[in-house]
Amino acid sequence: MQNSHVKKVLIVGGGISGLTAAIALDKIGIQAEIVEKEKEYHVYGVGIIQPPNVLRALNEIGLAEKCLEVGDSAPGIDYYTGQGDFMFHALSPTIEDYPGLNVISRRELHNILYEKVQSIGTRIYMDTVVSEIESTTQGAVVELSNGVNGTYDLVIGADGTNSQIRRYLFGEIKQSYSEQGVWRYKLPRLKEIKQPLFYYGHKAKAGLFPMSQDEMYLLVTTHEPGNPKHPNDKLSELLQERISGFGGVIAEVRNQIIDPNEVVYRPIFTHLLPSPWYKDNILLVGDAAHSSAPHVGQGASIAIEDVIVLADILKHNLTLEETLKIFMKKQYERARIIVENSDQLVEWELLQWHGKENKDVNVGKFVVDTLAKMNEPILTELYAQ
Ligand SMILES: Cc1cc2nc3c(=O)[nH]c(=O)nc-3n(C[C@H](O)[C@H](O)[C@H](O)COP(=O)(O)OP(=O)(O)OC[C@H]3O[C@@H](n4cnc5c(N)ncnc54)[C@H](O)[C@@H]3O)c2cc1C
Repeated sequence: MQNSHVKKVLIVGGGISGLTAAIALDKIGIQAEIVEKEKEYHVYGVGIIQPPNVLRALNEIGLAEKCLEVGDSAPGIDYYTGQGDFMFHALSPTIEDYPGLNVISRRELHNILYEKVQSIGTRIYMDTVVSEIESTTQGAVVELSNGVNGTYDLVIGADGTNSQIRRYLFGEIKQSYSEQGVWRYKLPRLKEIKQPLFYYGHKAKAGLFPMSQDEMYLLVTTHEPGNPKHPNDKLSELLQERISGFGGVIAEVRNQIIDPNEVVYRPIFTHLLPSPWYKDNILLVGDAAHSSAPHVGQGASIAIEDVIVLADILKHNLTLEETLKIFMKKQYERARIIVENSDQLVEWELLQWHGKENKDVNVGKFVVDTLAKMNEPILTELYAQ
């Protein structure tokens, strides 16, 4: 059914959730435009983990199969000690027809979404931001930095963790620094790496994640007290240093970390905006509303789900207020689980690295339960409740 309340949408941010939003809206006959602040995209070649719930969401816009084709999927993750002694294999909870996880290069995921957006003819204003925005009863009146003006039935703030649109709606918010940093580096795939693996060291965790037949990426999580500013030209040296205590296959790849420009380092900040994530005709989605530590690989999944769920509700032609209320009912709790449970995993990890491990905690079960929760239905089944 054509939505008579929402016909014209502005999406601020052409990242993972913004591009997905344009595709999902187009599918239900809603015209969208995208504003992207970057002049051109610089998407990293390191990977992104796709659990079954995001593949299910991407299937709604016909893109799950392509991700599976381009990426590398596996039933779960192998766990080793820091020295490379095998501990156990953890099967990831699945949804019928999907693998436990798929791993894909971020650049490939971007290309899949971007090509689709191009093919449906969505207008993207690159190198552009919102200069003025005001909610009126006629819609959100927007002026862009490139001089374009427009009135939109809905503005979607998909502009990431430091969202300008969030600042406009809710002012400055406090993000929590997790005391951890994540390091990533793309490598040629070693033949012996059949599926993703993690080494649990005494002071850090290091994983290797195949993302195609030929490529994998190294994913290292470390304690970074006080959020140090690492000099860019020292990143490869610092990453090598961070994994110097590891044995096995992690030690084997250590000397291949040579180009500091290819090291992707991120201090982990997290936040969860209280509900609702909207005011009048402006809604926040993805990292703008909720940003999690990557410990269950769900940040982008929830960002994609946000806009798939939004489009699913828009199909019902309710008023915008009703649509956004239902949206919050569906997505707030899922985002809360991901942000809070990932924060919890960070806390347990830091305790363990300080020799204060809580033996009563079953981390594996906690992760599996969290992922299984995400596999619960999100679309019309829930809508009917
Ligand atoms: C180390 C690390 C590892 C991760 N691993 C995973 C993983 O394995 N699996 C997973 O699901 N998630 C993972 N995530 C999380 C995931 O990357 C994010 O949740 C996801 O990118 C959020 O998508 P988004 O569209 O909300 O924001 P982004 O992807 O950040 O997109 C925001 C877009 O908005 C643009 N923009 C910003 N400001 C403006 C503005 N003012 N005007 C216009 N445009 C603007 C940006 O240039 C960008 O293109 C990880 C995150 C980190 C930090």
